[in-house]
Amino acid sequence: MDGVTLRIGIDLGGTKIEGVALSRDGAEVARRRIETPKDYEQTLLAIEGLISVLEDDARAASGQEMRGSIGVGIPGTLSPATRLVKNSNSTWLNGHAFDKDLEAIVKRPIRVMNDANCFALSEATDGAGVGAGVVFGVILGTGVGAGIVVEGRVLEGHHGIGGEWGHNSLPWPKDGEWPGPDCYCGRKGCIEVYVSGPGMARDHEAVTGQRLSTRDIAAKAARGDDEAVASRDRYADRLARGLASVINVLDPEIVVLGGGMSNLPALAEDVQTALPQYVFTDRVATRVLRNVHGDSSGVRGAAWLWPL
Ligand SMILES: [Zn+2]
Repeated sequence: MDGVTLRIGIDLGGTKIEGVALSRDGAEVARRRIETPKDYEQTLLAIEGLISVLEDDARAASGQEMRGSIGVGIPGTLSPATRLVKNSNSTWLNGHAFDKDLEAIVKRPIRVMNDANCFALSEATDGAGVGAGVVFGVILGTGVGAGIVVEGRVLEGHHGIGGEWGHNSLPWPKDGEWPGPDCYCGRKGCIEVYVSGPGMARDHEAVTGQRLSTRDIAAKAARGDDEAVASRDRYADRLARGLASVINVLDPEIVVLGGGMSNLPALAEDVQTALPQYVFTDRVATRVLRNVHGDSSGVRGAAWLWPL
């Protein structure tokens, strides 16, 4: 785009909208965070305001006029068939032509991508997956999402659901795991109901009768509490099984873990150790790594949706 000197990335979350402005070399020149209005029109206007503040910040920092390309990461995806938002847990976005509506307000082209895809793109571009040909980036949070990046490009897929492994069944089920707990998607025993944060807490309660947060379970496990260690080990093994089924199909070089659950100590290492039991190869060379950019991956990946 002519006159563009910045990449602006917007991460539209259910409670917060975060924005970042990156220079040509990927350095962060401005960052802002605002509350998410729970209303479609107000959300568009809030993003417009955020973009103009980021450009003002960049101008103040550089002393030059700054104009950004704009990429937006959203919960959910733009349906390739209808170009309307679908599958968003921020339900006020569903059914809207989000990219076209925002373009009309900010008067420049917008690229919109699923937020898990933005995470994977960020980590593949200059994070844990830099230099790899195929990267599978996983978000383990309240829900479970993932994105696939091939040679620096997101593989969105025919339905826009590329990487959505969370609603496959947990593979290689063990005693008591089948059919498994109900999932909001209408099925039972999805990977998401085991490896999301609430999934770990539910599992710990089902086995021990104790209702604890994942943070408390992790802290007890770190102190050597037998039940908490067992919950943590079940979690890592289930995650390894879920990822092994992806590796058997996609065969990525790097799997990057993100989201709050990726902060469990030594999770990536334990998953790495468990993989050979499940992956169909004699030697597992796929590396499982924690993310580099943490909570910033969403906004950074949205910014990387445009080349300069
Ligand atoms: Zn499901």
